Amino acid sequence: MHWKVGRVKITKIVELETIGSTRFILPLATNDEIQKLPWLIPHFATAEGRLKMSIHSLVVETPTRRIVVDTGLGNDKEGRNVPTWNNRQTPFLETMATAGFPPDSIDTVLCTHLHVDHVGWNTKLVNGKWIPTFGNARYLFGKTEYEHWRDHNAESDKAAVFNDSVKPIVDAARADLVASDARLCDEINLIPTPGHSPGHISIHIQSDGEEALLTGDVAHHPCQMAHLDWSSTADSDPVQSAATRRELFSRYADTPALVIGGHFSAAHIKRDGDAFKFMV
Ligand SMILES: [Zn+2]
Repeated sequence: MHWKVGRVKITKIVELETIGSTRFILPLATNDEIQKLPWLIPHFATAEGRLKMSIHSLVVETPTRRIVVDTGLGNDKEGRNVPTWNNRQTPFLETMATAGFPPDSIDTVLCTHLHVDHVGWNTKLVNGKWIPTFGNARYLFGKTEYEHWRDHNAESDKAAVFNDSVKPIVDAARADLVASDARLCDEINLIPTPGHSPGHISIHIQSDGEEALLTGDVAHHPCQMAHLDWSSTADSDPVQSAATRRELFSRYADTPALVIGGHFSAAHIKRDGDAFKFMV
C-alpha cells in the first residue's frame, strides 16, 4: 500500500497484522467501547469491536533520499516478553525487495523510538553476530531516546532489545544521534512527541503544498483519538502521552494532512467535540 505526498512517496511494508489480540496494549479498549465509535469500523476495527493493528515499516522516498521509518520485530530475536516475537522467521526483507526496496538501496533508517517492535530489522543475525541489515544506511536515533535506553536497560527484555538491535548499529559506527526537532532534508522534519517513550519523535513531511504526519506510537490505535486518556500499557509516562496526543492531534485536525500511525493505516484527523476522530 502506498501514498503520494507531493513528490514524496510513502510505502507501507507489513510485518505482522493482528485482529483483537492487542488488548494488553490498550486495556480500556473493550469491544463494547469500540462499538460506540462507529467511525472505526470497518477500517480500524471489526463489527464486533475488535481492534485491527499491524507492525509495519514505512519507506519514505523523497527526490533524494530513501528512508525506512521503524523496523518492526526482526528475525531470530530472543528474550522478548511476547512469546510470538521470539525466534521469528519471516520473509520481511524479501517482501521489501519485491516491493522495490532491496536492503542495500536504503540510505537512511529512522526509528521513532527504540521499543522492541520498532528496531528489530535494524540488525540481522549472520554467523552468530548481529550486523546492520541495511548495509548502506545511516541509522538515525533520537539522542534523548538513545541515551535513555543506553542508561536504562537493566530489565532482561530491555537489555535484549538494546543489545541485539541498537548497540550493534552504534558499535558498527552506523548510528547518528539526532535532535528530536531535527530537519532531515527539504521535505522532512522531526517533531518531539514524548510520553510513549522519553525521546519519542514523530515525522512531518511536506512537499509541493501537501503534508503528511507519521505519528509513530503517539497513539497505538485511532480509538485513542476519541479517548485521549486511554494511554497504552507501554507508555513510559501516561500523563505526558495523553498531553502529547492532544497537542499533536489539535495541530493536524481539520487539515488536509495525511496521518499514518506506527500501528494503523492512513486517514485524516477531524475534531469531534472535545476530542477527535479519524476519517478515511
Ligand atoms: Zn509500537
